[in-house]
Amino acid sequence: MEARPAAEPATQRALRRRNLGLVLRHVAEHGPRSRATIAFETGLNKSTISSLVGELIDLGLLLERGALRRGTVGRPGLVVDVSRDGVVALGLEINVDYLAVQATDLTGGSRHRWLEAADNRGTRATDVIERLARLARSALAAVRSQGLRPIGATVALPGLVEVERGALLVAPNLGWSDVPVVDLLRERLDAGTLPVDADNEANLGALAELWEGAGVGLTDFMYVSGEIGVGAGIVIGGELFRGYRGFGGEFGHVTVESRGRRCGCGSRGCLETRAGLEALLQAAGLDQETATTTGSGRPVAELVKRARGGDRGALKALSEAGVWLGIALGSAVNLLSPQAVVLGGYFAPIAEWLRPAVDRELEARVMGARWGVPGVLASTLGPEAAVRGAAALSLHRVLGDPGLVAELSVG
Ligand SMILES: [Zn+2]
Repeated sequence: MEARPAAEPATQRALRRRNLGLVLRHVAEHGPRSRATIAFETGLNKSTISSLVGELIDLGLLLERGALRRGTVGRPGLVVDVSRDGVVALGLEINVDYLAVQATDLTGGSRHRWLEAADNRGTRATDVIERLARLARSALAAVRSQGLRPIGATVALPGLVEVERGALLVAPNLGWSDVPVVDLLRERLDAGTLPVDADNEANLGALAELWEGAGVGLTDFMYVSGEIGVGAGIVIGGELFRGYRGFGGEFGHVTVESRGRRCGCGSRGCLETRAGLEALLQAAGLDQETATTTGSGRPVAELVKRARGGDRGALKALSEAGVWLGIALGSAVNLLSPQAVVLGGYFAPIAEWLRPAVDRELEARVMGARWGVPGVLASTLGPEAAVRGAAALSLHRVLGDPGLVAELSVG
């Protein structure tokens, strides 16, 4: 057979890089175990595993510790585990009524978090990004002081995002269009080679639910993010569905009334004009609240308090929002047939009052209803889903390709 000396090293490097990911994900998914157990379970030989584990330890992704369970194969007393104190990723979020930052380590532990209520509507994009950059710099300083190494940051945005360019194309509720968020943020972060990405907030919320929230164990579900805007992240076959241009999931702009109220997107009769947070607060008589107070969560807490107390205005507003949401979800369920619908954002704390009306509409509108309608679940992550998903996205990239960590020059 003809030798191919030039191609061989590149192929070997690619193979090694792939195997680094295989070993890291194996330990992350199955828990601490000995090198011999990893070799047995992955089918790679012991010396290869030792070398791969050594490199992953050097990269700060795995660590070695004692306490081997009885009956496990291998060197007694030594297991490798995912390192809690090696790398960390930042999730950042710009929403209409708040800014948020979240730092998560490779074990999923939260190492820093901050939420700042702010009325970002009509505010210049560069001013808001400047404030977000300040929160991000504080977060980077906080995690570095814990000895952690940042490996990426992802920004969650409330509108159409061109992921490749990291640009927010349009966000009707912010009044912004064509903002190169990632470029503007990088300029202000002194980010070095730190990867900075952007994505739609509902997409990131759906990923957070899939990886660590109400969607764990589900393969097909729809995450509905209730904020001042309403969005959705659609998971099909365990993967996020984005659509051809990446603009899928704009659930808030599904038409529920052909000649309904004007919407910020330019259309009319959109779901958001009936079930968005402001429409809901208005219907409940809480419309004197400004975006700054909605970002603090106070009006939703007040709505929950009134609903618990049996306030008829609050209960009626919640039930009506549930009807509008159920009408739109009926169409979505007929199209997609998901296992479940996860209500997130501000919908999570009010889910128990939305659910009866949503269930009634689904029973009435879904063609396959007599074989069951999807369960309507409340998000377990609430308003933090998007920012947690943003941090987790960067970590999942490293789990997929640990070699990325070696390429970062700034630690
Ligand atoms: Zn609209």
